[in-house]
Amino acid sequence: MRVLVVSTPVGSLGSGQGGGVEITLSSLVAGLLERGHQLTVLAGEGSVLPPRCARAELWTVAGVDQPSWQHQPREAAVQIPTGSLLSQLWRRVLKEQSRFDLILNLGYDWLPLWLTPSTSTPLAHLVSMGSVSLAMDQVIAEVSQGYPDHLAFHTAAQAADFQLSQPPILLGNGFDLHRYRFNPSPDAQLGWAGRIAPEKGLEDAAAAAAQLGLPLVVMGLAADPAYAARVEASVPAGTIRWRGFLTTDALQAELGRCRALLNTPKWNEAFGNVVVEAMACGVPVASYRRGGPSELIREGLNGALADPDAVTSLVAAAQRAMALERQDCRHWAEQHGSIERFAERVEGWLQTLLKARSC
Ligand code: UDP
Repeated sequence: MRVLVVSTPVGSLGSGQGGGVEITLSSLVAGLLERGHQLTVLAGEGSVLPPRCARAELWTVAGVDQPSWQHQPREAAVQIPTGSLLSQLWRRVLKEQSRFDLILNLGYDWLPLWLTPSTSTPLAHLVSMGSVSLAMDQVIAEVSQGYPDHLAFHTAAQAADFQLSQPPILLGNGFDLHRYRFNPSPDAQLGWAGRIAPEKGLEDAAAAAAQLGLPLVVMGLAADPAYAARVEASVPAGTIRWRGFLTTDALQAELGRCRALLNTPKWNEAFGNVVVEAMACGVPVASYRRGGPSELIREGLNGALADPDAVTSLVAAAQRAMALERQDCRHWAEQHGSIERFAERVEGWLQTLLKARSC
């Protein structure tokens, strides 16, 4: 297949602004290349791809970022800023589409979903978030009515947010596990990783770490610096050790040194990349029982689940998680979170869609 993969209209690949979509894209592209497909990636200016994606062609366009849907009110109208990156990306798609068998959209945005019936090359969407906007819910429901095979999701918990006309196609996610080293001997510290934004609930992880008397190493882009400052002020000085936004190499080294990862989503987390990345380093995860992480964590094997938004329950889950075998976490990630398995599932989905289209 000749596949055009369209990235998020928020930031460039490698900046961290796109959150989990950045890793999803590189895993998907690397995995499909290795299965013999031809990949072109269309993304914001300044984007870089990891070495494993070197055989993909990278096209970049400049433009103004989309405001993130998850930071708008649920009822917000669709916004297209002047000089928008989103419109530049999709102008290029429409111009070049005849060169491809399939277009695969990874951006969580109204415009590409709305375009689904109108492209001459089939347009498929891997939806990267749960429900955060009525306008997005509506357009996803419309695509599901007319083009159900064109939609896929990461987890059942995420897909359950939407009104779908058939059982969802679920793909999970995949990681380049060679890049995550197993660390059998952690330091006396806990970890937290992700975009530092209210939907990620860092304040609860900080409170739990303070109660456990362990420092919390925080890895990620301070998408909302005022929020980060409020969290820091809410716990005793020295509880949080800020590491900033790290490359995957630096991230996995820091993760490996943690006794457990705390994961505290305040929203219906679509997947939870950092959960599997931590496990790949041998780090058990204590998470709220909410969204994707509740499907990834096997209590007593690779982590522990806590009642959502309950810090006391999170503290108890962290204690259970720290007692687990680190090797079991790595093993689970190898079984369920590899690029190879993810790419097989993506390929199966895209080939079914193309076959159905040619019938
Ligand atoms: N991440 C990173 N460096 C950091 C912290 C996070 O590269 O310092 C990446 C991490 O590898 C993960 C992504 O940011 O893939 C966050 O994805 P997740 O699914 O956990 O949350 P999202 O941001 O998509 O809501």
